[in-house]
Amino acid sequence: MIQKQTQIAFGIIISLLLSTTLSDAAPNRTDQITHGAQKITINYQASLTQNEREITYKWLNKVTSALRTVYGEFPKDYFQLTIQRGTNRSGPVPWGQVERGEPTKVLLVINPEHGYDALISDWTAFHELSHLLIPYRGHGNVWFSEGLATYYQNIIQARSGLLTETEMWGKLAAGFERGEKQHRWGHLKLTDLSDTMRENRQFMRVHWSGVLYWLSADVELRKQNKGTLDSALKQLKACCESSSMSAKAIAQKLDELTQSDLFVPLFETYCDSYQIPDYQPILTELGIEQYQSNRNIVLRNTASQAEFRKQIYRK
Ligand SMILES: [Zn+2]
Repeated sequence: MIQKQTQIAFGIIISLLLSTTLSDAAPNRTDQITHGAQKITINYQASLTQNEREITYKWLNKVTSALRTVYGEFPKDYFQLTIQRGTNRSGPVPWGQVERGEPTKVLLVINPEHGYDALISDWTAFHELSHLLIPYRGHGNVWFSEGLATYYQNIIQARSGLLTETEMWGKLAAGFERGEKQHRWGHLKLTDLSDTMRENRQFMRVHWSGVLYWLSADVELRKQNKGTLDSALKQLKACCESSSMSAKAIAQKLDELTQSDLFVPLFETYCDSYQIPDYQPILTELGIEQYQSNRNIVLRNTASQAEFRKQIYRK
């Protein structure tokens, strides 16, 4: 713990020296985070003070380390983080988005005056960075991409000690429930609903159907002894990190890489769904019990797939 903090402090000193030299030429300050040969460039909006950049850098170190709990490296060998200051006081990280391209850029709008503890408690950055785990082209069946990012934002927060096992599964169980409650657009298949999500505002059904897809695929891979979703995504990075793929093409590639026949059939089922598929069976086999009265959950270690639940949480 102490050693880690020293490394971060040392990194901040080096990077501030670097950014001061660059500042004469450019109004914005830059910084970087490296892992082996992998590199992330950070561009700070010029209005951030030195103290705010130090807090932001410490936070980004933690968030990007969390991203490495999926398979030990970043999902892209190079990408950029653009840090802008928010114009309102709505929260520590009111907005984030991924701009795919060469290089891929992740924009994070922050209010650093909230401080480090508030920044690290916000899920937005974990969500946006989790989007990088698949080379999604950015349109069509957006449920697939949003589901992956929402699934992993919780996993990587938990694996880096920011959520307990109960908190993590509690968030997933509560999310499925919110997804189930959005059924006003039950005449539209998920694939059509997610194409018009901004207009119909059925964010919960779209996102949480997607999370259930990825959780189901993860558990099924483990049951079939074909690795884990983490290892499948690592293989996907190796082959296709620079590609721009449709959701279906990614599902096909994941089946090919894991020598399975589960990502595509499950994808078709979800595309054609008129409501979030039944999530109770998978929660039961993982040993996640919900109590409707107080929204708390209890984890059962005697459940048939309780080991998978623990593995997903701690890797
Ligand atoms: Zn997203």
